[in-house]
Amino acid sequence: VILRSQETVFEGRVFSVTRDTVLMPNGRELAMEIVRHPESVVLLPMPDRSHIFLVRQYRYAIGRWIWELPAGSVEPGEHPDSAARRECHEEVGLEPHGIERLAASYPSPGFCTETMIFYRLTDLRAPSLRAAQDEDEQLDAKVFTLSEARALARAEPVGDMKTVVGLMLIE
Ligand SMILES: [Mg+2]
Repeated sequence: VILRSQETVFEGRVFSVTRDTVLMPNGRELAMEIVRHPESVVLLPMPDRSHIFLVRQYRYAIGRWIWELPAGSVEPGEHPDSAARRECHEEVGLEPHGIERLAASYPSPGFCTETMIFYRLTDLRAPSLRAAQDEDEQLDAKVFTLSEARALARAEPVGDMKTVVGLMLIE
């Protein structure tokens, strides 16, 4: 694939959008609109082997409240392990001392560059300092048994994919 031209058509706080003209392997020229999104981390914070934290938040894009695994974007120059530690502190209010990368997946490879990295977080301890929350985040963290969390993810009329995938990773 050869990139012929690229134009940034939107630059936002979390992601940008480019319109790329590319020459595909079959010789056809295509216009591609691509969401350029940083890597993100999806957290499985487990206070013990049979419990996990989920967060409930209002998601404006879908117009409803939804239970999800805690997650967030990796900041520029930040290692994903550090992002996992930071997001756990921000969203769950605890500091993980066990950090295990489980898997990575593309949520929408058709148009978006994002990679989601899943982490199992254990040995959760009270932090020495209180973390600040993102201003777009109004969330409630709660501990569930694994079977409660799976039932909850399934009970949603439409569930959150990273949560379904994350819970499958620890089956
Ligand atoms: Mg978040």
